[in-house]
Amino acid sequence: MPRLPTLQEQLRQLIATPSVSCTRAELDMSNEGVILLLESWLSSLGFRTEIMPISPGKFNLLATYGSGPGGLVLAGHTDTVPCNPERWQSDPFKLVEKDQRWYGLGSCDMKGFFPIAIEAARPLLEQRFQEPLIILATADEESSMSGARALAAAGKPRARKAIIGEPTSLKPIYQHKGIMMQGLRLTGQAGHSSNPALGNNAMEAMHLMLAELLQFRSELQNRYQDASFAVSVPTLNLGCIHGGDNPNRICASCELEFDLRPLPGMDNDALHAELERRLRPVAERAGVEFDFYPLFGGVPAFQNARDAELVQICEQLSGQPAESVAFATEGPFLQQLGMETLILGPGSIDQAHQPNEYLALDQIDPAIGILRRLISHYCLTSPSAEVQKPK
Ligand SMILES: [Zn+2]
Repeated sequence: MPRLPTLQEQLRQLIATPSVSCTRAELDMSNEGVILLLESWLSSLGFRTEIMPISPGKFNLLATYGSGPGGLVLAGHTDTVPCNPERWQSDPFKLVEKDQRWYGLGSCDMKGFFPIAIEAARPLLEQRFQEPLIILATADEESSMSGARALAAAGKPRARKAIIGEPTSLKPIYQHKGIMMQGLRLTGQAGHSSNPALGNNAMEAMHLMLAELLQFRSELQNRYQDASFAVSVPTLNLGCIHGGDNPNRICASCELEFDLRPLPGMDNDALHAELERRLRPVAERAGVEFDFYPLFGGVPAFQNARDAELVQICEQLSGQPAESVAFATEGPFLQQLGMETLILGPGSIDQAHQPNEYLALDQIDPAIGILRRLISHYCLTSPSAEVQKPK
């Protein structure tokens, strides 16, 4: 049996194996190398592994120890965002230790989670597992979330609870906003600017759309508020607009892209339908062609009950109250599989997605401690025995 590398050596190898995912095809890479490393380490520990193909070069890994229903999922994504090596002080694909930190692309978001989860589990593997531990490694979280979507569609894995180890400085995160990105294309008719009757101006029609969207935004913000978020209302941002070509031509085509961040309790599909219901009549009145489409699959808002058992246990173990965050995760997709889901992991989101990303070393031992106690609680203790305990 191959010896398991040390935690630091595992992270060194993961960082040295680039796995950028990006909606720009020229930057997008396979995550197969990372999946194969994790697969070899976890199978050497006795996990049963399944590699799930998602698309060419992209894979999820499901590694299970123990069997039966219930259990705990420890989930992370294998991909990173792209980086600008010229803005780094060291090679982003080399783990560098400096100032009590490990630098490298993915060190905190979130390749570092896997060696930590493995280290949390390792000393427990001698014991009998009442319920399974599943280490889940997904593809393309940073671009399309196609890995998590594929799991939700396939109906696996099934467990009672799931922890997603995104960098939260070990704070339990029980809810986040969702993401929708929408495109809107209006097509009118070109013509000479000297006579408006010769065409139909798509930019003027867009002007009416913008007014409708801003009106819709203020209505949404009146309807929905949650003070636990730093930005307590749903947001709608007009991101970019392109239209027309020349001052003396009637603008024939105008395109807008905007993003919407719904709060928990708001449904992406319902929002899309409502937007369409409001915008289409504006286009009809203006006499332009109307094309309204999502720019990607979107991420639903995520919320676990504030008083759920997993939230309470993680508050106790971390010593920090559960919070809300602005960034989206794979949480809603794991929740669709029926698992109580919480986001909690080592490292800070402040260091993610930017040059000189690092994992502070003082996060590692506490992270191992929290995960180990969660594994003990959910996998080693029989839940029926727990229920029979006298009060
Ligand atoms: Zn992440």
